[in-house]
Amino acid sequence: MNPFENFRLTSPFGMRMHPVDKVMRFHRGVDLVISPSNGNIKAFVAGEVLHAKMGATGSGFGNYGNLVAIRDDKGYLHVYAHLSSISVKGGQKIDKDQVVGKQGNTGKSSGAHLHYEVRKACSPSYGYTATEAGVVEPTKYLQDYYSKGELVKVDKKDANAIIDTYLKPAWGAAKTPADKQEIGRLADELRVASGQPKQNG
Ligand SMILES: [Zn+2]
Repeated sequence: MNPFENFRLTSPFGMRMHPVDKVMRFHRGVDLVISPSNGNIKAFVAGEVLHAKMGATGSGFGNYGNLVAIRDDKGYLHVYAHLSSISVKGGQKIDKDQVVGKQGNTGKSSGAHLHYEVRKACSPSYGYTATEAGVVEPTKYLQDYYSKGELVKVDKKDANAIIDTYLKPAWGAAKTPADKQEIGRLADELRVASGQPKQNG
């Protein structure tokens, strides 16, 4: 599953030749391009907006241009940089896929694109570190985030309907203790995924 399927990836995470400075340098995030050049940028995850303005030198966001930084429920900071305009405010709670601004070319940038990075911390200096120590690989982070998020998104009513309609009759019809145990484990997986306590083991 590619979290950036609507974008063209123009520069990956990791060591690269810097497009403006022309030296090898660690790239703290990914560069992504969407059309048109002022296309809407939507949040990859929900969270709280901690920063929604031009990145000041020395703030942890120098050269990032207009940026939006959003803290997710795990405490990681998602940075959307070089925006042409911003459509959210500091302190605002936003949903996944909510528009945070428009793609742009503000700050140190060689053309309209989104620089997106995920920082491990939100302070000090919005979690900025000079080395790669403070960031994670964005594609993998989102893939992990979405796959775990889906588990807790199972609706309680849906989970219990599956358990009552399919698993309980199957448990009653199971011929061996191992089969019963496996069905019980599946039911508990659904209970945990929908925020309910386990009932088996
Ligand atoms: Zn970048």
